[in-house]
Amino acid sequence: MSQATLFYLANLLTYGAVDVIACLGLSMQFGVAGISNFGYILFQAAGAYTAAILALPPDTANGGFQKYIGGWGLPFPVPLIGAAVVGGLIALPFTLLVGRRLTGHVAAIGLLVTAVMFNLLVTNFVPLFNGAAGLSLVPQPLQNVFNPQSQTYQWVYGAGAALLALGTYFLFRRITESPYGRSLRAMRDNGQVADSLGKDLLSMRTAMLVLGGMAAGLSGGVLVGFITLWDPGAWGYAETIVLFAAVIIGGSGNHKGAVLGALLVPLGFEEASRFIPSSLGPPGMIPALQWVAIGLLIVGFLWFRPQGVIPEPRRKVFAWAQGRLAGPRDGVAGPVTSPAMSPPAGEAATPRGGAILSTEGVVVDFGGVKAVDGVSLSVQRGRLSGLIGPNGAGKSTLLAALAGSVRVAEGRIYFEGQDVTQMPTYLRARAGLVRTFQLASEFKRLTVVENLISAVPGQRGDTFRGSLRGRRYWGREELAAIERARELMERFGLIEYADTYAGNLSGGQRRLVEIMRALMAEPRLLLLDEPMAGIHPSLARKIGANLQQLCAEGMTILLVEHELAFMDEFCDPVTVLAEGRILAEGTMVELRRHAEVVEAYLVG
Ligand code: ADP
Ligand code: MG
Repeated sequence: MSQATLFYLANLLTYGAVDVIACLGLSMQFGVAGISNFGYILFQAAGAYTAAILALPPDTANGGFQKYIGGWGLPFPVPLIGAAVVGGLIALPFTLLVGRRLTGHVAAIGLLVTAVMFNLLVTNFVPLFNGAAGLSLVPQPLQNVFNPQSQTYQWVYGAGAALLALGTYFLFRRITESPYGRSLRAMRDNGQVADSLGKDLLSMRTAMLVLGGMAAGLSGGVLVGFITLWDPGAWGYAETIVLFAAVIIGGSGNHKGAVLGALLVPLGFEEASRFIPSSLGPPGMIPALQWVAIGLLIVGFLWFRPQGVIPEPRRKVFAWAQGRLAGPRDGVAGPVTSPAMSPPAGEAATPRGGAILSTEGVVVDFGGVKAVDGVSLSVQRGRLSGLIGPNGAGKSTLLAALAGSVRVAEGRIYFEGQDVTQMPTYLRARAGLVRTFQLASEFKRLTVVENLISAVPGQRGDTFRGSLRGRRYWGREELAAIERARELMERFGLIEYADTYAGNLSGGQRRLVEIMRALMAEPRLLLLDEPMAGIHPSLARKIGANLQQLCAEGMTILLVEHELAFMDEFCDPVTVLAEGRILAEGTMVELRRHAEVVEAYLVG
């Protein structure tokens, strides 16, 4: 092989590693956590710039031909570390600014706009970043010790970059495969539901913006140390699209896909265009065609193969657990105590009766329409209470208000004697106030058993730090959770679907998954919104009996249902809601004796 070819290959190794690290960060944010960070390239640019000004001598050096802040002339590896840290830190002001509104479109557009503004600032404000000219003559790592022009140096640099990429891959995989990673995927599939199960979305999104930002920053640092240039023109927001293309084409939600995508798209395209003679067509045509090709590829993949070349793997957690329980190794096997269907700790001691939840004049206002209009209600501990009323009466809105997913305009909500009116949803869930949704709300790309164990509160592997400590730290608890899930799945007849994606089940089965998942969250008060919709009446009766049993054991349930036969058999007392107001309360027998007015609503 010629010298030139060898140099070329060494270059390729470095560029490939840079792209892989960047794509892994985006894969974590977009593929796993479902955050569309359209400003991703900004994080890479910031990392690269940081590495440059940490490594560069003061800007008075070299005759002062360029201006920049910093210029500390710090040795390797400080510039690289700085690149990663700054890449992560710049996510913070953004998340603080946007706060809990940091969801879907807001985050996507907000980050895009931030990236564009940043690019404008950089290219037009000379003292900070030397304007459009960018920075050059950035010192390379250890350039005083080794000759950066030598081929050995190039190969060592490439190998170092590849090692960093490998490290990033394994770190991210560790996080993704942990209970915390499962919570991230749950958030991706349905944020509102994850919230109602006690997941702190803001904290998870912030963590992922910081972590992905660190990967982006690091990749920028590695790049600038190699090419010794920092050109603001190279970080146009459109570059983000190339990385998105890589993740989507490779397979989002799968870090292997991100690696493949990085090698196919940014690296592949860049290199392929080298071999096309530039004399072909007018100047600028090849790069323009490259954009067209990337655009077509994204659209094509989203249309024909949205899962990418290497799809996200289905995690057969249940099969894994059965294997572990069969072979008694490292003390994990053996009977696992199962608190799934028993009352929550401390509950047994509390006397039955008395209100577990009460409201005073709760009003929910949807832009002038009062969906809930002054509801004062109290839910008695240990009872299976019912809530009925015609369509649009405000039943679902009332449950949402109790769980904290809609804002209460007036009134107070007390849970376990504590005023929770202002408490965020996920904290109410952690306190034991758990709701289900009227519309299908399973985590589609989680299996049935993953849906269930995702709801278990306080798992040690379900924090960022816990996830870093690996399976040894949380594996045992995971097995116990799966064991509890197994009991429920057996009880509800879904055991054979344990490792099936919940999104592939029938409507009725998905409802069962939601009920089971809510039970796994160890609720003290469970709010069920039309849980029997789409479920066969005979099964509904079995479930009703089960729910009654749970209440006898100390749980409290408030259930919305329009099937009056179900109310007759299982619920006492029952509240009638109409046009946002409580019309009547009592046993079904009493309600049926009530005036004709009620009769009209009972039928409705
Ligand atoms: P129910 O569950 O008893 O059928 P809902 O609570 O779903 O009734 O709805 C009560 C009223 O509030 C309806 O008039 C509905 O159109 C309205 N509503 C519900 N959710 C919203 C919303 N997010 N924005 C505006 N109006 C809403
Ligand atoms: Mg409803």
